[in-house]
Amino acid sequence: MSELNGKTVLLYFSAHWCPPCRAFLPKLVDAYHEIKAKGNALEVVFISSDKDQASFDEFFGGMPWLALPFGDSRKRFLSRKFRVSGIPMLVAIGSNGRTLTTKARDMVLQYGARAYPFTDEKIKELEAEEDEIAKGWPEKLTHETHEHELVLTRRRVYYCDGCNEQGHAWSYYCEKCDFDLHPKCVLKEEDKGSKDDPDVKEEDKSKDGWVCDGEVCKKV
Ligand SMILES: [Zn+2]
Ligand SMILES: [Zn+2]
Repeated sequence: MSELNGKTVLLYFSAHWCPPCRAFLPKLVDAYHEIKAKGNALEVVFISSDKDQASFDEFFGGMPWLALPFGDSRKRFLSRKFRVSGIPMLVAIGSNGRTLTTKARDMVLQYGARAYPFTDEKIKELEAEEDEIAKGWPEKLTHETHEHELVLTRRRVYYCDGCNEQGHAWSYYCEKCDFDLHPKCVLKEEDKGSKDDPDVKEEDKSKDGWVCDGEVCKKV
């Protein structure tokens, strides 16, 4: 516990048998080293859902931080307290002991080391930077790969249905279908020169019988 005093603490609920946990680990390790290298007070504690000591040892062997010992009874308390229903889950606790967020994993995926110190203020600052990036992009558009109107939407982490690569921050999104396109995948095509007439778009949309209120595409 003395190692955690006065530090921002990340509780890392995960297990070796869980593929997304293994996939997330290198990203967390990178962010961890980068945050520490800047002299920031951070510690991570691995809280294992492994089935046996050997798997715990193997997984923890690849981690540069602390762990709750395998089989420690405090794990149950912590899982319940933070309502851990899926892993990996990363909970950030401030140096004052207050819970900052239970969605620190998304923040690490999205911002890497820049997410530190995982506070609301920091998120707002990073989102303001993203707003700058999105300036001048159309709020709504249609795209040949999807039947509904797509809305420029702030999305933490998603997979682009165009190129299948991961994306974050902004997506041209159809919420009804959970359909995402990277802004770069949409806007680069528009540059190719097919300038749609907005009136035609409007007609297509009503013919289709779908209307999008910005959050959901609904059938009219
Ligand atoms: Zn894409
Ligand atoms: Zn749709």
